Formats: sequence, C-alpha cells, structure tokens
Amino acid sequence: MPELRQDRFTKEWVIIAPERGKREGAKREGAQKPIPHYDPKCPFCPGNEAMTPEGTLEIPRQDGRAGWQVRVVPNKFAAVSRTGQPVRHVDGSRHTVEGVGIHDVIIESPDHSQTIATLPITDVGMVLESYKARFDAVSADPRVAQVIIFKNHGFGSGTTLEHPHSQLIATPVISSHVRGRIYEALRYYDDFGVCIGCASLEEELAEQTRIVLITDHFVVIEPFASPVPYNTHIYPRRHMCSFGQISPPELSDLAGVLKTVLERLYAGLDNPDFNYTIVTAPADHSDAQYYHWYLSIIPRLTQVAGFELGSGMSINTVSPESAAEFLRNVRARKSQGA
Ligand SMILES: [Zn+2]
Ligand SMILES: [Zn+2]
Repeated sequence: MPELRQDRFTKEWVIIAPERGKREGAKREGAQKPIPHYDPKCPFCPGNEAMTPEGTLEIPRQDGRAGWQVRVVPNKFAAVSRTGQPVRHVDGSRHTVEGVGIHDVIIESPDHSQTIATLPITDVGMVLESYKARFDAVSADPRVAQVIIFKNHGFGSGTTLEHPHSQLIATPVISSHVRGRIYEALRYYDDFGVCIGCASLEEELAEQTRIVLITDHFVVIEPFASPVPYNTHIYPRRHMCSFGQISPPELSDLAGVLKTVLERLYAGLDNPDFNYTIVTAPADHSDAQYYHWYLSIIPRLTQVAGFELGSGMSINTVSPESAAEFLRNVRARKSQGA
C-alpha cells in the first residue's frame, strides 16, 4: 500500500508509491550523444573568454599548463542586476523591490565534455573552493539577504549550455520557501532545544536504512520523505547552519563525497539529468543553533504533473529505502570491474 510521509523540515506531505513506478523504468531510455572536449562556439570554452563578462574569480590550472581551471563570471543574462539598491516599494497590496543582486556562473572546468562525476577529486575541490569564496564575498554584501548555489545538469534540468557550470544567485529578499524552513527549524528548536538537522541525522544514523555513505565529515542520506526518486542529501556531521562555516578539511572531504555520489547516479541511472542546490541559512541567520545546511541532489527522472501542481504534494515512485540500497550497491558493481 502507498504511504504518505511528512517532511519534518517543510511539513509537506509526500506519497511514496513504489507500485506506481512499475509504469515507467527508473532508467532513462535512449543513448546520449558523445560530447566533444572543446566546442569553438561555446562561450565557456578556453579561448572564448571575450564572449562572457569579465571574471570575478579565476583558479589557475594546477597541472603546470597555462590557463584557468575554474572561472567565475557574471551571468550575461542575469536574473538580477549587480548595480543599484534594493529599494522596497509598497503600493497598497502590491509589494515590489528593485531587482538588485548577484548572478554568477561558475565554469567548472576548461574541458567542455566533463562533469563533476568525471572530474578528478582535486578539480571538484577547486569548484567547491570557488563556491565558498563567492558565497563568502556575496554574503558580505549588505544588499544580499539570501544566496543560492545550484547546478543544472542536462537539458531536462533547465540548463541551456552543455559546458559544465554551476550558478549562484543572491537576492535582496528571503524567499517564502526558505523562510518556511527557518520557521519549522525554529519551532523544533523551541520544542526540543536541539537542531532539527542534528536530530534527524542522529535518527538516520541509528536506523541506517536510508544511509548511502558515511565519511569523516559527511553522511549521505535518501531523505525519509523524498519528493522524487533518488533525491539525495549530503549532510555535514558537525552542526553548521551555513555553508560559509565549512572548514578546509570538510571542503576537501565534500569534494570526494559529491564526486562519489554523482558517479553512482551517473553509473546507476545512466547519466540522469539532475539539479543540485546548497540549502543553507540566509546571511542574517548565519550563526544559528537551529538550522543545518546540506546539499540536495534532485535527479530529474520524472515530470511534475497536475496533482503536484494542484496540491504541492509529490508522488515518489521509488522508496528512499530502496533508493539507498541501490546507491550503496552501485559502488559494489563498479569495484567488481563492471
Ligand atoms: Zn565549452
Ligand atoms: Zn545541526
């Protein structure tokens, strides 16, 4: 029988209905075309730097060759403007704010064909270092209320460019989605005196059934109320409310964890389209005892349909327990030389 589960972080309900998944394969059908290492028309490929605005951060190549390994540039088609002040206007029931903020593109590799799953761990580490450097710099801007770092991989995820890249968007307001999470976390803290994320992590570690991987600093979990198949959370084991609090050893551990998890999704689900996003406390809550940051990977294996749009509830056709078991075993298959 299907089961309704409540997400403790959002109070949203999810229908876990594995029987329904038999209508569709978990794997995506159809071979994907090979991607070249270099595309002369790509604005993110080396040699085409003039096609993007001037960079805000560049990490040089570490292999002795000239050029950059990671490059951060303002988005040419930015959702928000880097100049001006976020002046708020209230006109009766109409509330508006000037569209001021930061919209960066993080170009993850000079190689057009790579993805986090295929990059060496040291290169993934450089991508994460650039996230942290830009997160810190942008969070310090007094006009910024919220910073979202995210990646869209594959055309089904909303990306329009093939070259591996992530983005950062900083807005002058806190979205109601994030505000709702803060309220729930605060309510939990008021009731129990502990962080909801730390409490959840403790329960998951005791129960084990939704754990994919444990490292020195992180735990990889298929969340209890996963809204979509193979939704995967990478949780810091130490209490940290903001991504900005990550230490250098934790950052290098995260590089290995992120690569491993994406490698397993890549191998196990045939390079699925996915999004990932860093769910972190907004700038003015950046030292909170009640909030816990994490990285959420959302594979795009299913489409959002009418019921989801009408109710806000999701129907997930793969139970988090079987998704965790599957992702634990992808490693076993690979290590056997498959
Ligand atoms: Zn390219
Ligand atoms: Zn915590």
